[in-house]
Formats: sequence, structure tokens, C-alpha cells
Amino acid sequence: MPHVFESATTNRSKCRGCKQGIAKGELRFGESLPNQFGEGEVTHWFHPACAAYKRPEPLLEALQSAADVPGREALESHARASLAQHRLPRIDGAERSPTGQAKCRQCREPIEKGAWRIRLVFHEEGTFSPGGFIHLGCRAAYFETGDILEQVLHFSPALAEADREELKAAF
Ligand SMILES: [Zn+2]
Ligand SMILES: [Zn+2]
Repeated sequence: MPHVFESATTNRSKCRGCKQGIAKGELRFGESLPNQFGEGEVTHWFHPACAAYKRPEPLLEALQSAADVPGREALESHARASLAQHRLPRIDGAERSPTGQAKCRQCREPIEKGAWRIRLVFHEEGTFSPGGFIHLGCRAAYFETGDILEQVLHFSPALAEADREELKAAF
């Protein structure tokens, strides 16, 4: 089964990229994967923008054969950037560290309580799993590009407007 773009037929699908719901009628991207638990294939749904960041390869593959995809150029450019820097698809948003216990995956130093940290996820066999954190200040060393604000904000839907402004300032 090829990957697909389609209008969501129900309100029940959830985006694997941002964990938010996909509204009925909204355009969604379906990544087709072999079923780990049996025969056949399963489809994992995403908002197209979330897939561009987190699943660039299948998204680009699907774009090649899809006709009318709104925002195609932005999707392509985000997906190409994510493909070029292999760690970018791991970005899962930012938050203030609730404790001082986690260590940064880049510098191995603890991340102080209250400091901004970037959440990482790893994608393996169709599943995203938590992959730890890095200091905001370690982003350029870890991702090999510092230009990730848009992507970090995209995956931080839980942040209130004031926090988003503070995060932008911290960048
Ligand atoms: Zn999403
Ligand atoms: Zn660090």
C-alpha cells in the first residue's frame, strides 16, 4: 500500500507527530507500514506539517505522486531540511525542566530545574519513543544547525502564549 494524502473521514484519528487530534475533513498524511503484530500493513496518520518534520522520507515519497496538496512547497522544504540533518526529526518540542535530574544528551551535564530543554524522540519500527533532552544552548552542537525555532514551537502546542514568547527570546 502506498502512503497517502486524504481528507480525514472521521474526527477520531490522532497525529503521531504532535499527539493532537486530526479534525474530520482536514488533510492528513498516512504512512503505510508493515504490521508488527500480524499480516498486512497499518497506516499511521499525521498532520502533513508534522510528518514533514518527523517523517520526511515517506512524506516526500508521497508528495511525488500526489496531485493537489496545499502548502506543498513549505512541506517539501521542511522535509528536505529534516532529511539533510538526521537529528532534526527527533525534535519533540520544548519545556521548562520540572526537576534537575535529567542530563543533557549533548554535554552530559544536568539540566537545571526551570531551564528550557528540548525534548527528543526516536523513531523505530513505526513507534516514537522518548529519547531524553538537551539544553536549549546545546542545540547547535547537537543538531548541527541552530535554526530550529519554528520546528520547536510547532511541537510545543501545550505552551501558553507568554511561554512561547519567552522561548523565542531564549533563542
Ligand atoms: Zn500533528
Ligand atoms: Zn547540554
